[in-house]
Amino acid sequence: MDYSFRSDLHLHTTHSDGRLSPSDLMALCYERGLMTVSVTDHDTTSGIDECEAAANKHDLDFIPGIEFGAKAIRGEIHILGYFIDPNNHALQEVLSDLQEDRKTRAERMVALLCQTGTPLSWDRVSELARGGSVGRPHIAQALVEEGHASHPKDAFDRLINWKAPAYVARKLIQPREAVDLINGSGGLAVLAHPLESRAKSGRREIYELETTLASLVDFGIVGIEAYYGDYSNDQIERVITLANKYGLVPCGGSDYHAAGNPIEPEPGEIGPPVESIELLKSLKPI
Ligand code: AMP
Ligand code: FE
Ligand code: FE
Ligand code: ZN
Repeated sequence: MDYSFRSDLHLHTTHSDGRLSPSDLMALCYERGLMTVSVTDHDTTSGIDECEAAANKHDLDFIPGIEFGAKAIRGEIHILGYFIDPNNHALQEVLSDLQEDRKTRAERMVALLCQTGTPLSWDRVSELARGGSVGRPHIAQALVEEGHASHPKDAFDRLINWKAPAYVARKLIQPREAVDLINGSGGLAVLAHPLESRAKSGRREIYELETTLASLVDFGIVGIEAYYGDYSNDQIERVITLANKYGLVPCGGSDYHAAGNPIEPEPGEIGPPVESIELLKSLKPI
Protein backbone atom coordinates (compact mmCIF):
# COMPACT_ATOMS: atom_id res chain seq x y z
CA MET A 1 0.00 0.00 0.00
CA ASP A 2 1.19 3.48 -0.82
CA TYR A 3 1.03 5.64 2.27
CA SER A 4 1.48 9.32 1.76
CA PHE A 5 3.22 10.99 4.66
CA ARG A 6 2.72 14.64 3.86
CA SER A 7 0.37 15.09 6.80
CA ASP A 8 1.07 14.69 10.50
CA LEU A 9 -1.89 15.19 12.82
CA HIS A 10 -0.26 14.26 16.12
CA LEU A 11 2.57 16.45 17.41
CA HIS A 12 3.61 17.91 20.78
CA THR A 13 5.46 21.08 21.77
CA THR A 14 6.95 22.63 24.90
CA HIS A 15 3.41 23.73 25.81
CA SER A 16 2.95 20.14 27.02
CA ASP A 17 5.54 17.37 27.00
CA GLY A 18 7.25 17.98 23.67
CA ARG A 19 10.79 19.37 23.70
CA LEU A 20 10.56 21.65 20.67
CA SER A 21 8.96 25.09 20.78
CA PRO A 22 6.07 25.69 18.38
CA SER A 23 8.36 27.66 16.06
CA ASP A 24 11.09 24.99 16.01
CA LEU A 25 8.54 22.21 15.51
CA MET A 26 6.84 23.98 12.61
CA ALA A 27 10.24 24.70 11.04
CA LEU A 28 11.12 20.99 11.33
CA CYS A 29 7.78 19.98 9.76
CA TYR A 30 8.47 22.33 6.87
CA GLU A 31 12.01 20.98 6.41
CA ARG A 32 10.65 17.45 6.39
CA GLY A 33 8.31 18.28 3.53
CA LEU A 34 5.00 18.22 5.36
CA MET A 35 1.94 20.01 4.02
CA THR A 36 -0.75 19.60 6.69
CA VAL A 37 0.02 19.53 10.40
CA SER A 38 -1.87 19.53 13.67
CA VAL A 39 -0.31 20.18 17.07
CA THR A 40 -2.12 18.23 19.77
CA ASP A 41 -0.65 19.26 23.10
CA HIS A 42 -1.97 17.48 26.20
CA ASP A 43 -4.73 19.35 28.04
CA THR A 44 -3.80 22.78 26.70
CA THR A 45 -4.41 25.11 23.78
CA SER A 46 -1.75 27.61 24.88
CA GLY A 47 0.62 26.78 22.00
CA ILE A 48 -1.91 27.16 19.22
CA ASP A 49 -1.35 30.85 18.40
CA GLU A 50 2.43 30.50 18.13
CA CYS A 51 2.07 27.26 16.13
CA GLU A 52 -0.36 28.85 13.73
CA ALA A 53 1.84 31.90 13.18
CA ALA A 54 4.90 29.70 12.55
CA ALA A 55 2.89 27.37 10.30
CA ASN A 56 1.68 30.33 8.24
CA LYS A 57 5.26 31.53 7.86
CA HIS A 58 6.15 28.19 6.28
CA ASP A 59 2.93 27.92 4.27
CA LEU A 60 1.88 24.84 6.20
CA ASP A 61 -1.80 23.95 6.34
CA PHE A 62 -2.43 24.16 10.10
CA ILE A 63 -5.22 22.46 12.09
CA PRO A 64 -5.57 23.57 15.74
CA GLY A 65 -5.64 20.50 17.97
CA ILE A 66 -5.59 19.10 21.49
CA GLU A 67 -5.17 15.70 23.18
CA PHE A 68 -7.28 14.68 26.20
CA GLY A 69 -6.77 11.72 28.50
CA ALA A 70 -10.04 10.02 29.42
CA LYS A 71 -11.16 7.15 31.65
CA ALA A 72 -11.35 3.78 29.95
CA ILE A 73 -12.86 0.46 31.00
CA ARG A 74 -9.31 -0.28 32.14
CA GLY A 75 -6.66 2.46 32.27
CA GLU A 76 -6.94 5.47 30.00
CA ILE A 77 -7.63 6.32 26.40
CA HIS A 78 -6.62 9.47 24.56
CA ILE A 79 -8.99 11.55 22.49
CA LEU A 80 -7.76 14.09 19.97
CA GLY A 81 -9.69 17.21 19.05
CA TYR A 82 -9.20 18.93 15.69
CA PHE A 83 -10.40 22.38 14.56
CA ILE A 84 -11.24 23.32 18.16
CA ASP A 85 -11.84 26.95 19.10
CA PRO A 86 -9.34 27.83 21.87
CA ASN A 87 -11.59 30.71 22.98
CA ASN A 88 -14.39 28.37 24.00
CA HIS A 89 -15.25 29.05 27.64
CA ALA A 90 -16.38 25.55 28.69
CA LEU A 91 -13.22 24.09 27.17
CA GLN A 92 -10.93 26.52 29.01
CA GLU A 93 -12.66 25.91 32.35
CA VAL A 94 -11.95 22.19 32.17
CA LEU A 95 -8.41 22.80 30.93
CA SER A 96 -7.51 25.03 33.88
CA ASP A 97 -8.84 22.37 36.24
CA LEU A 98 -6.69 19.73 34.53
CA GLN A 99 -3.62 21.99 34.66
CA GLU A 100 -4.04 22.39 38.41
CA ASP A 101 -4.34 18.63 38.90
CA ARG A 102 -1.26 17.94 36.73
CA LYS A 103 0.80 20.21 38.96
CA THR A 104 -0.30 18.63 42.27
CA ARG A 105 0.17 15.16 40.84
CA ALA A 106 3.69 15.89 39.56
CA GLU A 107 4.63 17.34 42.97
CA ARG A 108 3.42 14.14 44.62
CA MET A 109 5.45 12.03 42.20
CA VAL A 110 8.60 14.03 42.93
CA ALA A 111 7.98 13.55 46.69
CA LEU A 112 7.62 9.78 46.17
CA LEU A 113 10.83 9.67 44.13
CA CYS A 114 12.68 11.53 46.90
CA GLN A 115 11.35 9.07 49.49
CA THR A 116 12.44 6.03 47.45
CA GLY A 117 16.10 6.85 46.84
CA THR A 118 15.92 8.88 43.62
CA PRO A 119 16.12 12.48 44.84
CA LEU A 120 14.81 15.03 42.40
CA SER A 121 14.20 18.76 42.57
CA TRP A 122 10.63 19.97 41.98
CA ASP A 123 12.06 23.28 40.81
CA ARG A 124 13.92 21.54 38.01
CA VAL A 125 10.83 19.57 36.92
CA SER A 126 8.79 22.76 36.96
CA GLU A 127 11.50 24.56 34.98
CA LEU A 128 11.51 21.80 32.36
CA ALA A 129 7.72 22.15 31.99
CA ARG A 130 8.18 25.88 31.22
CA GLY A 131 4.73 26.79 32.49
CA GLY A 132 3.05 24.28 30.14
CA SER A 133 1.16 21.03 30.94
CA VAL A 134 3.53 19.33 33.39
CA GLY A 135 3.68 15.56 32.97
CA ARG A 136 5.71 12.43 33.52
CA PRO A 137 8.00 13.18 30.55
CA HIS A 138 9.34 16.22 32.43
CA ILE A 139 9.97 14.06 35.49
CA ALA A 140 11.65 11.48 33.23
CA GLN A 141 13.87 14.18 31.72
CA ALA A 142 14.92 15.39 35.18
CA LEU A 143 15.63 11.77 36.22
CA VAL A 144 17.90 11.35 33.18
CA GLU A 145 19.69 14.63 33.98
CA GLU A 146 20.33 13.44 37.54
CA GLY A 147 21.75 10.14 36.26
CA HIS A 148 18.89 8.06 37.71
CA ALA A 149 17.94 6.76 34.25
CA SER A 150 19.71 6.31 30.93
CA HIS A 151 16.86 7.67 28.78
CA PRO A 152 13.25 8.76 29.38
CA LYS A 153 11.76 5.35 28.57
CA ASP A 154 14.13 3.78 31.12
CA ALA A 155 12.80 6.23 33.74
CA PHE A 156 9.25 5.27 32.81
CA ASP A 157 9.97 1.52 32.87
CA ARG A 158 11.59 1.45 36.29
CA LEU A 159 10.20 4.43 38.16
CA ILE A 160 7.15 6.26 36.87
CA ASN A 161 5.07 3.94 34.72
CA TRP A 162 1.80 2.50 35.95
CA LYS A 163 2.60 0.12 38.86
CA ALA A 164 6.14 1.56 39.22
CA PRO A 165 7.14 2.97 42.66
CA ALA A 166 6.54 6.66 41.97
CA TYR A 167 3.45 6.45 39.78
CA VAL A 168 0.53 8.71 40.67
CA ALA A 169 -2.59 8.76 38.51
CA ARG A 170 -3.72 12.06 37.07
CA LYS A 171 -7.25 13.32 36.80
CA LEU A 172 -9.08 11.92 33.81
CA ILE A 173 -12.37 13.12 32.41
CA GLN A 174 -15.02 10.78 31.01
CA PRO A 175 -14.76 10.01 27.29
CA ARG A 176 -18.22 11.50 26.72
CA GLU A 177 -17.11 14.77 28.35
CA ALA A 178 -13.99 14.92 26.17
CA VAL A 179 -16.03 14.38 23.00
CA ASP A 180 -18.67 16.92 24.11
CA LEU A 181 -16.02 19.54 24.91
CA ILE A 182 -14.37 19.04 21.53
CA ASN A 183 -17.66 19.11 19.63
CA GLY A 184 -18.92 22.03 21.75
CA SER A 185 -15.92 24.10 20.70
CA GLY A 186 -16.56 23.46 17.03
CA GLY A 187 -14.12 20.59 16.72
CA LEU A 188 -13.98 16.96 15.60
CA ALA A 189 -13.05 14.13 17.99
CA VAL A 190 -10.73 11.28 17.03
CA LEU A 191 -9.64 8.25 19.08
CA ALA A 192 -5.84 8.25 19.50
CA HIS A 193 -3.44 5.27 19.32
CA PRO A 194 -5.87 2.35 19.89
CA LEU A 195 -3.25 -0.42 19.65
CA GLU A 196 -0.08 -1.49 21.43
CA SER A 197 2.95 0.69 20.72
CA ARG A 198 6.53 -0.41 21.32
CA ALA A 199 7.68 3.21 21.36
CA LYS A 200 5.78 3.81 24.61
CA SER A 201 6.32 1.15 27.25
CA GLY A 202 3.16 0.12 28.99
CA ARG A 203 1.05 1.32 26.04
CA ARG A 204 -1.12 -1.70 25.40
CA GLU A 205 -4.04 -2.13 23.06
CA ILE A 206 -7.17 -0.43 24.45
CA TYR A 207 -8.92 -2.97 26.67
CA GLU A 208 -12.16 -4.13 25.01
CA LEU A 209 -11.36 -2.01 22.00
CA GLU A 210 -14.50 -2.64 19.99
CA THR A 211 -16.87 -2.06 22.93
CA THR A 212 -15.01 1.18 23.68
CA LEU A 213 -15.08 2.20 20.04
CA ALA A 214 -18.81 1.55 19.68
CA SER A 215 -19.60 3.84 22.62
CA LEU A 216 -17.22 6.54 21.38
CA VAL A 217 -19.00 6.43 18.02
CA ASP A 218 -22.29 6.97 19.91
CA PHE A 219 -20.76 9.96 21.68
CA GLY A 220 -19.76 11.43 18.31
CA ILE A 221 -16.15 10.67 17.40
CA VAL A 222 -15.49 10.85 13.66
CA GLY A 223 -12.05 9.29 13.35
CA ILE A 224 -9.47 6.87 14.72
CA GLU A 225 -5.68 6.86 14.48
CA ALA A 226 -4.46 4.19 12.08
CA TYR A 227 -1.27 5.69 10.63
CA TYR A 228 0.31 6.16 14.04
CA GLY A 229 3.82 6.31 15.52
CA ASP A 230 5.60 2.99 15.16
CA TYR A 231 2.56 0.94 14.06
CA SER A 232 3.39 -1.94 11.71
CA ASN A 233 1.60 -2.31 8.38
CA ASP A 234 -0.51 -5.08 9.97
CA GLN A 235 -1.57 -2.76 12.78
CA ILE A 236 -2.39 0.01 10.31
CA GLU A 237 -4.49 -2.39 8.23
CA ARG A 238 -6.30 -3.60 11.33
CA VAL A 239 -7.31 -0.08 12.35
CA ILE A 240 -8.35 0.78 8.78
CA THR A 241 -10.69 -2.25 8.86
CA LEU A 242 -12.17 -0.97 12.13
CA ALA A 243 -12.47 2.55 10.70
CA ASN A 244 -14.39 1.20 7.72
CA LYS A 245 -16.66 -0.91 9.94
CA TYR A 246 -17.62 2.10 12.11
CA GLY A 247 -17.59 4.77 9.39
CA LEU A 248 -14.59 6.59 10.86
CA VAL A 249 -11.87 8.60 9.13
CA PRO A 250 -8.48 6.85 9.44
CA CYS A 251 -6.21 9.55 10.90
CA GLY A 252 -2.76 9.56 12.47
CA GLY A 253 0.64 11.09 12.93
CA SER A 254 4.02 10.56 14.53
CA ASP A 255 3.12 11.65 18.12
CA TYR A 256 6.52 13.35 18.00
CA HIS A 257 7.81 14.72 21.31
CA ALA A 258 11.56 15.06 20.50
CA ALA A 259 11.95 13.13 23.76
CA GLY A 260 15.18 11.29 22.99
CA ASN A 261 13.70 7.80 23.27
CA PRO A 262 15.27 4.82 21.44
CA ILE A 263 12.25 4.45 19.11
CA GLU A 264 10.84 7.81 18.11
CA PRO A 265 9.15 8.35 14.75
CA GLU A 266 9.88 11.82 13.41
CA PRO A 267 7.31 14.21 11.94
CA GLY A 268 6.29 12.96 8.52
CA GLU A 269 7.59 9.42 9.03
CA ILE A 270 4.00 8.32 9.34
CA GLY A 271 0.69 10.05 8.78
CA PRO A 272 -2.67 9.86 7.04
CA PRO A 273 -3.18 10.13 3.29
CA VAL A 274 -4.55 13.33 1.81
CA GLU A 275 -7.98 11.65 1.42
CA SER A 276 -8.29 11.51 5.22
CA ILE A 277 -7.48 15.21 5.51
CA GLU A 278 -10.11 16.03 2.90
CA LEU A 279 -12.69 13.85 4.67
CA LEU A 280 -11.95 15.51 8.02
CA LYS A 281 -12.29 18.96 6.46
CA SER A 282 -15.61 17.97 4.90
CA LEU A 283 -16.92 16.95 8.34
CA LYS A 284 -15.82 20.17 10.04
CA PRO A 285 -18.82 22.15 11.26
CA ILE A 286 -19.14 25.53 9.50
P1 AMP B 1 1.31 11.86 31.71
O1 AMP B 1 0.28 12.47 30.83
O2 AMP B 1 1.98 12.86 32.58
O3 AMP B 1 0.82 10.65 32.47
O4 AMP B 1 2.46 11.33 30.74
C1 AMP B 1 2.11 10.56 29.62
C2 AMP B 1 3.07 10.90 28.50
O5 AMP B 1 4.29 10.27 28.77
C3 AMP B 1 2.66 10.39 27.14
O6 AMP B 1 1.91 11.35 26.46
C4 AMP B 1 3.96 10.17 26.45
O7 AMP B 1 4.39 11.40 25.88
C5 AMP B 1 4.92 9.86 27.55
N1 AMP B 1 5.22 8.42 27.72
C6 AMP B 1 4.38 7.44 28.07
N2 AMP B 1 5.04 6.27 28.20
C7 AMP B 1 6.33 6.54 27.91
C8 AMP B 1 7.51 5.76 27.87
N3 AMP B 1 7.49 4.49 28.16
N4 AMP B 1 8.65 6.36 27.56
C9 AMP B 1 8.69 7.65 27.28
N5 AMP B 1 7.62 8.44 27.29
C10 AMP B 1 6.45 7.90 27.61
FE1 FE C 1 2.87 13.09 25.52
FE1 FE D 1 -1.50 10.07 23.63
ZN1 ZN E 1 0.25 12.47 21.95
